[in-house]
Amino acid sequence: MQSSSNLAHKTLDAHQRLNEHYGIQPIQGYSDPMHELIGTILSHRTTHANEVMAYRTMRERFPQWEQVRDAPLPDLIDAIRSANYPEIKAPYIQNLLTHLFRETGQANVDFLGQLSTEDAMAWLTKLPGIGMKTATILLLFKFQKPVLPVDTHVHRVTQRLGLIGPKVSAEKAHTILLSYLPLDALVLFNFHKHFYWHGQRVCTWYFPKCSECVLQTMCDYYQSGGTPVLSSTPTRKKPAK
Ligand code: SF4
Repeated sequence: MQSSSNLAHKTLDAHQRLNEHYGIQPIQGYSDPMHELIGTILSHRTTHANEVMAYRTMRERFPQWEQVRDAPLPDLIDAIRSANYPEIKAPYIQNLLTHLFRETGQANVDFLGQLSTEDAMAWLTKLPGIGMKTATILLLFKFQKPVLPVDTHVHRVTQRLGLIGPKVSAEKAHTILLSYLPLDALVLFNFHKHFYWHGQRVCTWYFPKCSECVLQTMCDYYQSGGTPVLSSTPTRKKPAK
């Protein structure tokens, strides 16, 4: 088992390699924090194109946030049907808006920028349907708070590399990886983006493209011969003939 300082060193090494591979990006997100928040809920388990279409259709049919909150549920489900699981996401969105209006009198989360990172995280994660991933994306992308979104791609790639243990949840991974990295929003944004892209394009769920991966020499999964030693890593499957 590797020590924390070795893992911190390995994490920074992987980060540096992906910086060189993908290039450092400026922090970017939707211009409106409400769009970022609701868009992240819509983005769960669907493509970016489907998320964008669902958000646009919802806003065309219900231009005011009060209208989204008060829409008959089947109508809102229909408006966001291009995103997967609209029957789950629509109640989340309405519950979130109900809480927001009740607590702040409006659909506006700009005040989060004035709170400490801890207070902003605590405020967001007590809202219905808002987990660590949604909260960290909003706080990092829109308010440049030093947090690290760990989505399925970041989770899988860091697990295969051996930066986090095989049974570490995405929530715990957030804390562990953050302890290895500088608390700098630009660094954390690029770490998130690069691992996300790497998981989408190279270290895919099935058939990771290890032969073209810049992290190959430091990867536990690769060094072990690609055996399913990690809990979230499925067995490599042979391509269908
Ligand atoms: Fe993923 Fe393979 Fe790269 Fe390891 S070597 S990070 S398993 S693509």
